[in-house]
Amino acid sequence: MLTDYHVHLRPDEVADTPAERFFTAANAERYRETAADRGIAELGVAEHVYRFTQALDVWDHEFWRHCALDDLDEYCSFVREETDLRLGIEADFVPGREDRMAALLDGRDLDYVVGSVHFLGDSAVDYEKYDVWTTGESADRVWRRYFEWLGEAAMSGLFDILAHPDLVKHWGPERPWPERDPRYYYEIAMEGIAESGIAVEVSTAGLRKPVGEIYPARAFLEMVVDAGNPIALSSDAHVPDQLGFGYDRALELLDAVGVTELSVFERRARRLESCAATSWRTQSPGTP
Ligand SMILES: [Zn+2]
Ligand SMILES: [Zn+2]
Repeated sequence: MLTDYHVHLRPDEVADTPAERFFTAANAERYRETAADRGIAELGVAEHVYRFTQALDVWDHEFWRHCALDDLDEYCSFVREETDLRLGIEADFVPGREDRMAALLDGRDLDYVVGSVHFLGDSAVDYEKYDVWTTGESADRVWRRYFEWLGEAAMSGLFDILAHPDLVKHWGPERPWPERDPRYYYEIAMEGIAESGIAVEVSTAGLRKPVGEIYPARAFLEMVVDAGNPIALSSDAHVPDQLGFGYDRALELLDAVGVTELSVFERRARRLESCAATSWRTQSPGTP
């Protein structure tokens, strides 16, 4: 069985993506049909937490204030009542605000929570407007802090899936890169990842980003597999045509490191389903 759980029903540009146009049964059906065409049976959506007004109780970063326009409970009711998709959310790890984020998440009837580290303090690793690489910090410090926070995110217990685990490489050669072997940094996160037992995402989104690689790097994934953590597979699609993007390469990678099962979630309970016999039925979708 193939999954795509880290999926957005709309692009990230807030101005052009009002909830009333994208949180519709017809839009959900477009995603369901495309997923079915591509052999993806387990489909869920995970909107960014910061697009909901309730997120401002957790953190009040300028970017969140700009994005927080919609009502979280209306989103949850929409997905439950008007679609047959799993109900997820992509929630940021904000150190020091774990209790507030827990209050936001625990009160909702979600199938899973995808946990992400996008921001390191006020600046972001994957967003040009708040680019961490303009702060003057060394690549060593940025990578170290990113992986420290990733390990803490795993240990926080807030999340079911750890998203795009080496997102710090997002810009690839367009930004500084540390001199040490990347495994040095992966190890920093691995202690928390291993101890938490969290499902770790293999995300094909990196193939569409400047780095041009799957998240995480193979060496990171090997550590995760050695630690015995389960794997979750997603595309981080923001339009239907990105569903299952690059899954041929992801499945090759999973096979190469010995992963034969994928995590499936229902009301925050996890089980594993075999993906070994899955054949990728269609050609890889085009580059968006
Ligand atoms: Zn993300
Ligand atoms: Zn996402």
